[in-house]
Amino acid sequence: MAAENEILSYFDMCQREGTSLQRGMNFRLHGGHSVLLMSVRRNAPYQDKVRDDGAVLIYEGHDHPRTPETPNPKILDQPEFLPGGGPTENGKFHHAAQEFKAGRKAPDLIRVYEKLRKGIWSYNGFFHLVDSWLQSDGSRQVFRFRLEAIEEAQDESAAVDTLYREVKHRRIIPTHVKLEVWQRDGGKCTMCGSTNELHFDHILPYSKGGTSLKVENIQLLCARHNLLKSARIE
Ligand SMILES: [Zn+2]
Repeated sequence: MAAENEILSYFDMCQREGTSLQRGMNFRLHGGHSVLLMSVRRNAPYQDKVRDDGAVLIYEGHDHPRTPETPNPKILDQPEFLPGGGPTENGKFHHAAQEFKAGRKAPDLIRVYEKLRKGIWSYNGFFHLVDSWLQSDGSRQVFRFRLEAIEEAQDESAAVDTLYREVKHRRIIPTHVKLEVWQRDGGKCTMCGSTNELHFDHILPYSKGGTSLKVENIQLLCARHNLLKSARIE
């Protein structure tokens, strides 16, 4: 299972999820959690936003696929249904969020991966899907999904069974902090220089009051040094 703030290649990410993540939105993969791929880069195709200092993610729905009949999907409303009548990924996530809002089910569990730069992804951890709506982006209707960052569950069934009100919330590391740290540490573990299995590590842990918002409190560590450090702290 991926650890929060782990840095992955696209290939690693697909291996972890046991599928080829061709699409950005993947509802209930293998019947369990869903996977969303996000990006807040300037040239990103969608307007994903991190809010409340990293506790909330507002994820934009996705467009019609580009086809000869729809050469410019960016001028069309984002679809809720497929031509055959079944729901699109937008429709599935929307339905799940509305079911939760109506109190009919627990929130869906979502794992979010963020594209930092070409070939470099960061695992942003587990989120709950708690709301969804359609809004105008100025010229058309787009879906928005509200996701709340939650603490890493021991396993998936535990996360699903946990009552929503008892869930501990957390903050994700902002993208600009991750990019600055990556640059500063040269894409290498600060302890041994390894470039494999890297993580963004909180120098003072989040659980001990360390911030996710400052470059000075985040460093790159390989899996081994990350484990050694957490063993020392506990
Ligand atoms: Zn190391």
